[in-house]
Amino acid sequence: MSRKSLFKRRSFLQILGLGYASTILNSCKTENIKKEPLTSLKAPFVLSTWYHEVDNTIALNTMVDQSKTSLDAIVAGIKNVENNPDDASVGYGGRPDRAGNVTLDACIMNAEGDAGSVSFLKNIKNPIEVARHVMEETPHVMLSGEGAYKFAREKGFEHIDLLTPSSKKEWEKWVKSSQYQPEINIENHDTVGMIAMDDNNNISGGCSTSGMAYKLEGRVGDSPIIGAGLYVDNEIGAATATGVGELVMKTLGSFLVVELMRQGHNPQEACRLAVIRIVERYDTKDMQVGFIACSKSGKFGAYSIFPGFIYTITDSTQNSVLEALSYYSK
Ligand code: ASP
Repeated sequence: MSRKSLFKRRSFLQILGLGYASTILNSCKTENIKKEPLTSLKAPFVLSTWYHEVDNTIALNTMVDQSKTSLDAIVAGIKNVENNPDDASVGYGGRPDRAGNVTLDACIMNAEGDAGSVSFLKNIKNPIEVARHVMEETPHVMLSGEGAYKFAREKGFEHIDLLTPSSKKEWEKWVKSSQYQPEINIENHDTVGMIAMDDNNNISGGCSTSGMAYKLEGRVGDSPIIGAGLYVDNEIGAATATGVGELVMKTLGSFLVVELMRQGHNPQEACRLAVIRIVERYDTKDMQVGFIACSKSGKFGAYSIFPGFIYTITDSTQNSVLEALSYYSK
């Protein structure tokens, strides 16, 4: 099944509002999804949450063909996701809040440990680029709402309507019942979190999302919060998260994964322990969280609460979609 048709299928399931959507989705996974983590990646490499073979390839080529840094790779890869109207959880075409506004969250970190972030940003297509401007051109880490919008406009970003006709149609349908129910593994929460290592073994990461579909107006999730949706420590490794942001924020999940790696755990085990922290502390019924991580030596891993969390790894020898191991089994 192509990436595009997978998107269509996910949207279809979402529209139907099927409670067992994840089961159906799991039963029609592409055959090339591998279940066992491979041992390691060779720099330069890229890994990201969910299905992002094309976007990872763009990021990898930025480092390989254009000899640019992992930071440039992150911006190029994530920007491509933000520009894709078929991706209903990120950037242009992202699902709106319950008032019908598309509000975007994103953050970025470089190998020096610098960070930039925007939250509750409206009418700007590429929050990942705005986050980079915040990191590189202001004394701050995070800009939000109207201030983030004004900053983006000053930097030359165009004002656009982020609500596509199909997102609008879905929202209008949703408004009739107005039932808010996060669903596992489908696109009301499919943030892109991306990590890259370049030839100089420098790690950068980024995260971008339109957040939970039909969230309360003003809600900000984990994705723009440094340490929650993303954390990079160039001496140790990096981690990024997707899923119900409230759970990730309360545990500072990505920072936790990196700190567990610092204590000697491999990325796979660090992701598993962070998921266990969430599951043991909170009621996670029907709530998905997934982490991906890599270490400085190129080892990688992922783990989620429920089955069905997919991630993509890309280096010069492979562009593979894997299914993470999970706390609960099918
Ligand atoms: N973590 C994001 C949020 O809570 C959603 C997602 O990962 O899909 O906003």
